Amino acid sequence: MKKVLITGAAGFLGSHLCDRFIKEGFYVIGMDNLITGDLKNIEHLSGNINFEFVNHDVSNHITIDGSLDYILHFASPASPIDYLKIPIQTLKVGSLGTHNLLGLAKAKNARMLIASTSEVYGDPLVHPQTEEYWGNVNLIGPRGVYDEAKRFQEAITMAYHRFHGVETRIVRIFNTYGPRMRLNDGRVLPAFIGQALRGEDLTVFGKGNQTRSFCYVDDLVEGIFRLLMSDYSLPVNIGNPDEITILEFAEEILKLTGSNQKIIFKELPVDDPMQRQPNIDKAKKLLGWEPKVSRQEGLKITYEYFKSLTDNDLYKVEHKNFEGFIKK
Ligand code: UDP
Repeated sequence: MKKVLITGAAGFLGSHLCDRFIKEGFYVIGMDNLITGDLKNIEHLSGNINFEFVNHDVSNHITIDGSLDYILHFASPASPIDYLKIPIQTLKVGSLGTHNLLGLAKAKNARMLIASTSEVYGDPLVHPQTEEYWGNVNLIGPRGVYDEAKRFQEAITMAYHRFHGVETRIVRIFNTYGPRMRLNDGRVLPAFIGQALRGEDLTVFGKGNQTRSFCYVDDLVEGIFRLLMSDYSLPVNIGNPDEITILEFAEEILKLTGSNQKIIFKELPVDDPMQRQPNIDKAKKLLGWEPKVSRQEGLKITYEYFKSLTDNDLYKVEHKNFEGFIKK
């Protein structure tokens, strides 16, 4: 039985990856320090003989007994407001955490895949973004702690690959959504759905003419699985190229939820990328992968999930004092 270590296992993407690898017949070690993750996301796996959970911060030395075949590094705060709240941990998990895991991969002769991000492109000057584009990142801005950690992560991963011959894979993930996102993590989809469910107005930042391209989580997981099993070690974009403005997105959410709230406009956060759309030619060619779930379908499933949460989740305030994110 192949053994995989998944970091960030109690998070949104990590927990879906645990499910997928269990389904594929792997033994899964899920690791998380639960700063932004939630054990609820993996509670259905407790008692499964092919799953174990380890509460550990990967920024500290990691010990795993026995053999290990694969490592997937998905531990990191992932919402722009989280970066501001826990900037040092964000930097550490992308840098020190990646270093520790690469050391582990080298020692165990395991193949390692790292979760990189469209944020490595910053506020992009090339559209849609291809893997060859080097990006436009403000390294000292509020998002710099995430963007630069992820850029360093890619650099050290390539160094371990080239210098030590570690087998590595790099996925650049574009905006992804689905069940198990944190309702109050500050990101646009849970923010809008949460507002609709609470009967509040939807807060569009700026004029709402900035764009994003949203990928449903099952499509993303399929792309990641295929990339891990491929022999390609340079970065690959995985995302859904279906691009939409944030204002149009807010209107879609109002329609989906049947709410008659207003859309209100708030200040645009510092360094908020104006355009984001993946070029996925590489994933198509190398992995035979492309997204299958339309936004309409994916949003419906996600909305059902958010509706099933308790009032306690709905009214939990996580980011009260982070208006600083908005100001220069
Ligand atoms: N956004 C918004 N209202 C909100 C939350 C986010 O208009 O309540 C905007 C945000 O300014 C950005 C986009 O939605 O342009 C996506 O933001 P998110 O935080 O989801 O992630 P990002 O793609 O910026 O990393």
